[in-house]
Amino acid sequence: MEEKQFIKKQFIKNMIYTFAVFTILVLAFDVLIYTRAKRYRYDEIDTELQNFASINWNHKIIVLNPRIIYIIRDEKGNILNKESIGRLYQYISDIELDRNKLNTIYSIKVNSEYNYRGITTKTYLASNEPYYIQLLANVDGENESLKSLKNRLFGMSAIIITTSIIASYILSKKTLKPIFVAWETQTEFVQNVAHELRTPLTIIQAKQQLLLKEPESKIIDKSEDIILTINETRRLTKLVKELMILATADSNQLKIKKELKNIDEVIKDIVTPYVEYAEMQNKELLLNLGCDKSINIDVNKITQLMIILLDNAIKYTKEGEKIKVNTFFKDGKGVIEVIDEGIGINDEQKKHIFERFYRTDKARTRETGGTGLGLAIAQTIVRLHGGTIRVYNNEPKGTKFVIKI
Ligand code: ADP
Repeated sequence: MEEKQFIKKQFIKNMIYTFAVFTILVLAFDVLIYTRAKRYRYDEIDTELQNFASINWNHKIIVLNPRIIYIIRDEKGNILNKESIGRLYQYISDIELDRNKLNTIYSIKVNSEYNYRGITTKTYLASNEPYYIQLLANVDGENESLKSLKNRLFGMSAIIITTSIIASYILSKKTLKPIFVAWETQTEFVQNVAHELRTPLTIIQAKQQLLLKEPESKIIDKSEDIILTINETRRLTKLVKELMILATADSNQLKIKKELKNIDEVIKDIVTPYVEYAEMQNKELLLNLGCDKSINIDVNKITQLMIILLDNAIKYTKEGEKIKVNTFFKDGKGVIEVIDEGIGINDEQKKHIFERFYRTDKARTRETGGTGLGLAIAQTIVRLHGGTIRVYNNEPKGTKFVIKI
């Protein structure tokens, strides 16, 4: 329950982060576009104003661009060219002269309604008295189009930001899914371990208590109970050993020491003792070697892998049935096959066969001492070698494991 809440919190956090990143990006994009557009819109008129301001005004006024109003002022700031300004005079008569802002472009609002860009320059006309020439250009058109750009950007951003809420929801769900699955797997794994440990421990405890109740009895009379506790202890040892292997593999600490080894020689050494072991159980183990090649492998790990497969093959076959181990080289890979004529694995079971603690028949595998971890370890070993392990049906019956390294 607690973990669900933790994941939920993480989910909301993730969503907020993603949403914030989206929003910041969209807003930054808006600001960038707007400032660029603004600069671009004013650029043309600003350059023209600057050009006119840098003209040598000596003694005469040159006819200007009709869009630009020029105001000539004396040193006190009085406007001297009312006539040439014409009817626009009424609007601009209130503008004051700022002597500190010379030769630089400025923005100015006239009649609190009309927007102008301007520049003021100091010059000397006919006499040697200083005059100020103020050039103004109306930029209401530019401002209008900027305003409409602003509105459009605002509308677009609103849509993108709203969509980003949905996007952040989907993205957060996607990001958290593997974490959620890993969490569930972990919880399930711990539950399985606890369960697997509990059964043998309960049996051992019960049997030992029973023995204590009859301290006078002889070991021979109680040998069955004692054997049972020994078997369960063995089971526990095996389980703990296998868990250790998986835990080290999970934490990437399972090191493999690869060396160039002849596959057939390695497989022969591993399988030969099993031929006799199978014979003792009236089963036939056939070895067919055809991969006389050297491949980089960790011999100890490959031995472990083959023991798991051979143990299973022997475990799940009946007397008189055959087990085969084949090796060959195909498509640049060493192939090892472990085939049996035993009970087989159906298609549904095949999907889960490499999962930890998966057993097709729990009761039966308990009898045979299985933990359901063997094939999970086998798969880890093959993966560490960069190879693959697959399970197929054997014809007419049984199972076929194919390893390619
Ligand atoms: P276990 O220790 O129980 O054998 P494994 O991981 O080695 O665990 O195998 C998982 C399950 O796969 C077994 O419980 C068994 O049901 C099935 N299985 C494995 N190998 C074979 C086989 N050769 N034939 C039939 N079933 C098999």
